[in-house]
Amino acid sequence: MLPLPAFKLHQPRTLPEAVSMLHRFGPDARVIAGGTDLVPNLKHGLLAPRALVSLQHVEALRGIAQSEAALVIGAMTSLDEIASDPRVLEAAPALAHAADAVGGPHHRRMGTLGGNLCLDTRCRYYNQTYFWRAALGFCLKKDGTVCHVVAGGQKCVAAASNDTAPALIALEATIELESVRGRRLVEAKSFYTADGIRNTILEADEIVARVSVPLVSGRRSAFDKVRRRNAIDFPLLSVAARADYEASAMTSVDVVVSALAARPRRLAAAQKLHPGVSAAEASAALVQASKRECKPLENIEGDAEWRHDMVPVVVERVLSRVLRFG
Ligand SMILES: Cc1cc2nc3c(=O)[nH]c(=O)nc-3n(C[C@H](O)[C@H](O)[C@H](O)COP(=O)(O)OP(=O)(O)OC[C@H]3O[C@@H](n4cnc5c(N)ncnc54)[C@H](O)[C@@H]3O)c2cc1C
Ligand code: SF4
Repeated sequence: MLPLPAFKLHQPRTLPEAVSMLHRFGPDARVIAGGTDLVPNLKHGLLAPRALVSLQHVEALRGIAQSEAALVIGAMTSLDEIASDPRVLEAAPALAHAADAVGGPHHRRMGTLGGNLCLDTRCRYYNQTYFWRAALGFCLKKDGTVCHVVAGGQKCVAAASNDTAPALIALEATIELESVRGRRLVEAKSFYTADGIRNTILEADEIVARVSVPLVSGRRSAFDKVRRRNAIDFPLLSVAARADYEASAMTSVDVVVSALAARPRRLAAAQKLHPGVSAAEASAALVQASKRECKPLENIEGDAEWRHDMVPVVVERVLSRVLRFG
């Protein structure tokens, strides 16, 4: 049994109250949503905040609303609710399926969209007990000076392991952040950085409040992932894709691959495809490019070479669901 470190739990009822608490407590505070990732990390001694600001009672952060232009999803909406919402299933299947593929039923019932977007990066040398990490001599991400994945590496390359992130990037979603300084909007594609120690642009006193997923007619999207046990495990690889059509012509396509390094990767080849290209040509070009552009590291479990071989397989599978063949 791993004990939790001591902390004071704060339970604001409104968003202004929550952001003002975070601002007041400074770097000693952390937000807690469903707690499905934060609590194990606290038990592993990966962080020891003196204050936890729970968003459980901030009703304004819950629920899914539909306007003419977008689906707006509150950060405290559970993954389970997102996975089964008919509007999400209809307009943004990549997001519904990504939410449905997170962990097991308990994680999806407790886990939230905001918590998933802000999930800490994962590494086989980091997500371990204090005793285990101390025996190894720690690492750059916590308490140490070296990286065990990239010999001589000066940058942490722990893996982005949040399944909704590639889906929201592919779907061109916008993330709404709140702090005492007000609101700022960030495109999902710009939310993540390549630094595994802190892989988002979120400031310490900011909260993810909502996510807007645009409603685009003629849009198709899909998500798939590889994991050891389909009933519960984190991704060894995850892929989301989106294609937009006008009449029968494809106008744009995006493919996002994650669980490689700290930031989900958008395939550069997808941005270069000519509008109107046939489904078969697009699929062949992207499948080939995915192997070239995506290089899994030995950062999470699962042999990196095997994960590399799986990239084109999963990309092709996902594209077969978004491209219109024949
Ligand atoms: C066995 C197991 C399997 C799992 N499998 C998967 C998986 O397959 N795929 C996957 O994606 N995840 C997986 N997870 C991780 C986790 O369950 C999910 O990512 C979940 O969505 C996290 O949401 P949460 O609300 O519980 O976040 P929390 O644990 O409460 O928080 C996670 C992080 O986000 C921050 N945070 C939370 N909400 C906000 C907010 N609104 N604004 C700013 N910061 C915020 C917290 O401070 C913390 O740093 C798994 C976890 C376990 C234990
Ligand atoms: S990638 Fe390197 S620095 Fe980052 S958690 Fe893993 S071992 Fe530590």
